[in-house]
Amino acid sequence: MSQLDNQCIFCKIINKEIPASIIFEDEKIIVFKDAFPKAPIHWLFVPKKHIPTHMDISQENKELMGHLHVIVQKVAKENNINHYKLIMNCGYESGQRVFHIHLHLLSGKTQEEV
Ligand code: AMP
Ligand code: ZN
Repeated sequence: MSQLDNQCIFCKIINKEIPASIIFEDEKIIVFKDAFPKAPIHWLFVPKKHIPTHMDISQENKELMGHLHVIVQKVAKENNINHYKLIMNCGYESGQRVFHIHLHLLSGKTQEEV
């Protein structure tokens, strides 16, 4: 599997070919604001490696997936976000529309009913 896919909108954001409101990035992860927020804070945590869906995660991506969660925790703390919901859609029928895995972080109002 290639690191980036030139048809993929999130790979284009990672490559800085299209703009996004970037909150954080390191060598392996980029975090940016969702363009169509469904909560006052709606950020996307995206591995820079192009992995299409949750079902495509393999043993070799285990460390990357752990790192993704550590970055969620770090970025949340740095932004004083103490309550959040994480969502990862897997497959079109679950609502996935961008086939490059990402965690949605939703916060800023009561998320119990989302
Ligand atoms: P999903 O439906 O789980 O695949 O989530 C894709 C998310 O990406 C949606 O919440 C969209 O609003 C968001 N999105 C799509 N295009 C962009 C973009 N260019 N910049 C930021 N967010 C985007
Ligand atoms: Zn991609």
